Amino acid sequence: MTRPRYHRILLKLSGEVLMGDSGLSIDPATISRVAEEIADVRRQGFELCVVVGGGNIFRGISGAARGMDRATGDYMGMLATVMNALAVQNALEKIGVETRVQSAIPMASVCEPFIRRRAERHLEKGRIVIFAAGVGSPFFTTDSGAALRAAEMKCDALFKGTSVDGVYNADPKKVADAKRYETVSYSTVLADDLKVMDASAIALCRDNNIPIVVFNIRQPGNLAEVLAGRGVATVVQ
Ligand code: UDP
Repeated sequence: MTRPRYHRILLKLSGEVLMGDSGLSIDPATISRVAEEIADVRRQGFELCVVVGGGNIFRGISGAARGMDRATGDYMGMLATVMNALAVQNALEKIGVETRVQSAIPMASVCEPFIRRRAERHLEKGRIVIFAAGVGSPFFTTDSGAALRAAEMKCDALFKGTSVDGVYNADPKKVADAKRYETVSYSTVLADDLKVMDASAIALCRDNNIPIVVFNIRQPGNLAEVLAGRGVATVVQ
């Protein structure tokens, strides 16, 4: 089955995608491969925004944050996303792709602050814009950051790269005959609490008519395949 082709997309990479199987928070081989794939689709003419998570380094509600004030943990999580954004930027620039990092938390010596019109100009010039620090506030996630930036930057779709090949009606690791959706509505995702993105991110995409394409980014070559409208994925619309 073929899906629509999009021109300007936002690619959401969770922090875990950068880990590969190495056990390192950022695996050099994995980030290089992901960068090559992003460079490839950029060369094909797609306009790309990227949002990176931080879960490979720090999450505000688990692990090392246990017992910590929630807002403090979340700010630390947002700082982790900035580290990942710099790592993705570095991997892309090493192979000749022009990028800019914009952070929702201003950090003048490290990267640009988020300025929508400036980000727009970067895209027009063919640069990839990497958005860091989510929405810039605690009690949110980078999924919400991705949905917000996708709306602000008028992206045609939000591509969520994960380690599964789409959205299932039950956890495929636990339920043998779990069925993968080809397409599924925002309201089904919300009503059935399907694990795609958090509810606020889904609602923001729904309210702004932004389809969410969920696909397996661990599979080499899949980003280009799915962007071409082929490959295995689920579209939430
Ligand atoms: N975070 C936040 N506000 C945001 C985005 C992220 O507080 O707008 C914090 C939150 O603690 C979160 C952490 O940053 O757990 C890392 O982001 P996320 O869990 O979304 O990363 P991912 O799961 O995509 O790797």
